[in-house]
Amino acid sequence: VAAPHPIEARGLVKRYGHLTAVDHVDITVEAGTVYGYLGPNGAGKTTSLRMLLGLIRPDEGTAKLFGRDPLEEGAAALDGVAGFVEAPRFYPYLSGRRNLELMAALDGGDAPDRIDAALETVGLAGRDGDKVKGYSHGMKQRLGIGAALLRDPRLLLLDEPTTGLDPAGMRDMRELVRRLAADGITVLLSSHLMGEVEELCDRVAIVRSGRVIYEGALDALLRSTGQRYRLRTTD
Ligand code: ATP
Repeated sequence: VAAPHPIEARGLVKRYGHLTAVDHVDITVEAGTVYGYLGPNGAGKTTSLRMLLGLIRPDEGTAKLFGRDPLEEGAAALDGVAGFVEAPRFYPYLSGRRNLELMAALDGGDAPDRIDAALETVGLAGRDGDKVKGYSHGMKQRLGIGAALLRDPRLLLLDEPTTGLDPAGMRDMRELVRRLAADGITVLLSSHLMGEVEELCDRVAIVRSGRVIYEGALDALLRSTGQRYRLRTTD
C-alpha cells in the first residue's frame, strides 16, 4: 500500500450564516512538493488551512494529514505537521532565542540544538539575542516559521507568509520557503500573488469565493491559457 499523502482533503465545506466561505474543496498534496493555494482576499484560504489543521470543524467533508484526521485523533494526528496560520505572538521584551526556548519548553522539552538549527534556517542566527521588539515584520514572520520548525515538521502549512512584507522581506521569505522545500519539507503555501506561486510552487489550486476553479500543474495552466493567468488581485 502506498504511503498516505501529506494532505488529502475531500469535499470541505464551511459556512458562516448565508456565506459559504469554503465550498466543496478537494486538496491533495503529494510528498516533496510545494503546493500553492492561490486566491484573492476573502477567497477562503485561511478557513481552508484552519480546517486542514483541525483548528475548526468543517460542516462537510474530511481532511487527513498523512492519512490521519486531527479532528478524530487529536494532537497525535499532527505529528510531523506544523502550521503558520496564525502568526504566533512573541514576548517583545525577550530575545528571539528566549522566545523559542519558551515555546520549546511548552512543547515539553528544551532543545538547544533544534533551536540553533531553526534560527540558522530562518536566517536569524546573528540576531537571536536581540529583543523581538526590535525585529522587522519580516524577521518576526521568520521567527514564527522558526517556531514551527521546532516541531521538526515533514509538512508545513504557511498562510500568506509574505503578506505585509516589504520587498526585501518578501525576498527573504521566498528564499526561506525554497530552502525548506530543498530540505525535503512538503509545503502548502497560500498566497494572493500569482508571481509568488509561480516562483515557488509545483502545483496550484486557484480559489475564488470558496471554490477551486483550477487545480493542477502550473506549467499546464500557463500553457493552456497561452499567457499568464490573470487574477484580479493586488499582484
Ligand atoms: P484573507 O486573505 O483576507 O484572509 P482568505 O482567502 O484567507 O482571505 P478567509 O479568511 O478564509 O479568506 O475568509 C473567507 C470568507 O469567510 C470571508 O468572506 C470571511 O469574511 C468569512 N469568514 C471567515 N471566518 C469567519 C468567521 N469566523 N465568521 C464569519 N465569517 C467568516
